[in-house]
Amino acid sequence: MNSAVDIVLAAPSWGVVRNVAIGVAVVLWLVLAYWVNRDARRRVAAGWAVTLATLLGLGLPFLGPILYLLLRPADLLRDVRERELELRAIEQRLALRGIECPTCRAAVEPSYLVCPICTTHLRQGCASCGAALEAIWLACPYCAAAAPPLGTLPGSRPSLRAPQQRVD
Ligand SMILES: [Zn+2]
Ligand SMILES: [Zn+2]
Repeated sequence: MNSAVDIVLAAPSWGVVRNVAIGVAVVLWLVLAYWVNRDARRRVAAGWAVTLATLLGLGLPFLGPILYLLLRPADLLRDVRERELELRAIEQRLALRGIECPTCRAAVEPSYLVCPICTTHLRQGCASCGAALEAIWLACPYCAAAAPPLGTLPGSRPSLRAPQQRVD
């Protein structure tokens, strides 16, 4: 009659504790592997790399997710994309202006006589109207005054160069 109670009381409860611990460990293992898969999809674009990370999380219980934490890319794909968009916008702004200071590479306008950032002399001003003249111009296009020929000016006339195009 009281055999069942005896068994429960007499049975070493360690067996139950062990089974519960194993159950919790298995659930934790699967949850961690799932987390690795979800996190990898937010950080890695290549499908095979996501699969590899998931296999790492599944194949090496607990150690795999820790390894993944150490090896995973620092940035989320979303952040990388945002940064690329920002860079492209900056490049487009530079391309619109078209020229940059040969010394400090700051964006400069075609009408600048000196670089406002590093004060490098960029162009000669027209002696008559003060407009910025290109180095090869022989006359000012705004007031028709003759531009002094190259070599007779105090200081050099560094040529401006267009920003280098990035080759992808
Ligand atoms: Zn400059
Ligand atoms: Zn002029």
